[in-house]
Amino acid sequence: MNYSFWEKYFIESPAQVTIIGAGIVGLSTAISIAERNMDLTIKVLDRGHLSYGASTKNAGFSCFGSVSEILDDMQANGEEMCMDIVKMRWQGLSKLKERVHPEIMEYQACGGIEFFKKTDVETIEVCTQAIPHLNELMEGYLSIKNCYQSKPNTTLSAFDSTTIFNPYEGTINPVKMMQELYKKAISLGITIIFGIEINDIRMDDHLLITKDNLHINYQKLILCTNGFTQRIMPELAVFPARNQVLMTLPLANNPLAAACHYDKGYIYFRQYKNRILIGGGRNLDLDGEMTDNFGLTDKIQHYLLDILDSIYPGASTQIDHWWSGIMGVGPSKYPIIKWLDDSVLAGVRLGGMGVAIGSYLGEQLAEEVTNL
Ligand SMILES: Cc1cc2nc3c(=O)[nH]c(=O)nc-3n(C[C@H](O)[C@H](O)[C@H](O)COP(=O)(O)OP(=O)(O)OC[C@H]3O[C@@H](n4cnc5c(N)ncnc54)[C@H](O)[C@@H]3O)c2cc1C
Repeated sequence: MNYSFWEKYFIESPAQVTIIGAGIVGLSTAISIAERNMDLTIKVLDRGHLSYGASTKNAGFSCFGSVSEILDDMQANGEEMCMDIVKMRWQGLSKLKERVHPEIMEYQACGGIEFFKKTDVETIEVCTQAIPHLNELMEGYLSIKNCYQSKPNTTLSAFDSTTIFNPYEGTINPVKMMQELYKKAISLGITIIFGIEINDIRMDDHLLITKDNLHINYQKLILCTNGFTQRIMPELAVFPARNQVLMTLPLANNPLAAACHYDKGYIYFRQYKNRILIGGGRNLDLDGEMTDNFGLTDKIQHYLLDILDSIYPGASTQIDHWWSGIMGVGPSKYPIIKWLDDSVLAGVRLGGMGVAIGSYLGEQLAEEVTNL
């Protein structure tokens, strides 16, 4: 890289708070810090030419959990921890809507629907029976009534006749959301530098080494690198999980009106301006999809195309675009907020919940850093 003296000086000059990663967590954290203390100098570094992680590649569901996903989480982590996470998602979404006007991020209060396979008889029974208890929990934790409602499936005949509707969910355009967070950060005096990849963190020297061998000193450092964290901080239990996604061309009489969940959240689909977005399916090849390399595979593409055709027959011939994104997952669904030493804080492992939880995590990280 042919940096001038001016550029090198600009990039290397230390800030009081340096953040690696300009995804929803990095930008939300920077904004939350600036909102608490305008005097702090804050610098956000990202290897992409724009935010290049999951935050601009996701499906744009503003969701806090389908019934089967929540029951799964309760079984794995217990009721209290599961509901803590649901609450974080809810609070994160409220913060996001406060920060980014719903119209700007194309927020649609369309609700969410969980669909089931016709053969999922036992899951359907367990899920529908759990509705009263889950509704009580949602009322207690989130103060919302009738969160989950069993409804007949009137749109997608390939799926079971029972669905579960959640009127509190919705969809957004993730890039519009990120653009607005970017503008907000700039307006608060935050420096954001793209195209800077950090290869090494020398914690003893408070020093970052970039791919181009620039040396950046830090005072406080926050890692918001989510699914890419292993490359620079392998001791953190956050691992990459790739998701493949497609968008169709606009389709006449598109039957989708809500944010749709299927197969315990492993498959998601929605409408965007009469197109269908469908993604997920990494449970088909969990080992193969544990990678932070972007890419597509025949196996998962065929799987998604089959489901797409069952939603809208013939839609598999109407594909506009395929892409992939990298999430950060781990042994627990709980995000990691952890000091790695006196100066380095990590805010990672958002699973498939970052749109919802990202702004909440930003607030928590900001509180950690500004309360010192
Ligand atoms: C396909 C897909 C669909 C999803 N759908 C939804 C959804 O509908 N709803 C929902 O709530 N969540 C969804 N998620 C999850 C959500 O997008 C993520 O949880 C969230 O975006 C994570 O935000 P983040 O800021 O932590 O990470 P990211 O957005 O991944 O940002 C990390 C940033 O760090 C940068 N970076 C990484 N390493 C370095 C380095 N060494 N040096 C410099 N920069 C670096 C990257 O370039 C990137 O910009 C989805 C995820 C995927 C992949």
